[in-house]
Amino acid sequence: ESRAVAAQVAEVLALFESVCAREEAELGRIDAIAGDGDHGQGMAYGSSGAAAAARAALEDGAGARTLLVRAGEAWSESAGGTSGALWGAALIAAGGVFDDRDGAGSRTVVDALDAGIDAIQRLGGAQVGDKTMIDAAVPFRQTLASTFTGENAAAAILEAAGAAREAADATASITATLGRSRVLGEKSVGTPDPGAISFSILMKELGQHLS
Ligand code: ADP
Ligand code: MG
Ligand code: MG
Repeated sequence: ESRAVAAQVAEVLALFESVCAREEAELGRIDAIAGDGDHGQGMAYGSSGAAAAARAALEDGAGARTLLVRAGEAWSESAGGTSGALWGAALIAAGGVFDDRDGAGSRTVVDALDAGIDAIQRLGGAQVGDKTMIDAAVPFRQTLASTFTGENAAAAILEAAGAAREAADATASITATLGRSRVLGEKSVGTPDPGAISFSILMKELGQHLS
């Protein structure tokens, strides 16, 4: 049972790797205007390192908890950058919700997402309106909480990803005050936050994958 859950988590990380590769150029383009241009590369390197670590953990017979912790460490190390550290911490925190032996249901998936977002808020210290991925993650989490019935994780994640995308797009109208883009100030007005966009894309893909 635990091996099956670990394999499913590894599949999600492989999906993230392919989505980040697909989106690399566009995320880099946005970050070049609203930041320093390396967000596409950071997400591609980070997700690729995490997927590789997950495959290695599976081969070692690791359970979901151990697999996510190793994947999170690999994401931070492979990506470098602010978003890499935050995604790495999120994966490690999500891993804490899983067990290496037990199975996982809808509730586990939603709790893991909550724990991951908590970690991003704790480590990054950003508030809504600071023009970071938190601007997408907070409405994602709120919509997830209000839509989740206890068993409809895939549908609730898809709906929450829609709210995250709207919120990410809406960051185009704010000037950044945190993160790298703060030094660019007004230059980022008219361009959405790259980390908010990548967050919403990955959550949509997760929801579709689980459906
Ligand atoms: P770097 O800023 O080091 O170049 P990336 O370009 O990969 O790293 O990531 C930039 C993204 O990181 C931003 O678009 C923003 O969403 C996110 N980010 C930056 N600082 C914070 C923070 N304190 N809390 C949450 N997210 C943040
Ligand atoms: Mg950057
Ligand atoms: Mg950078």
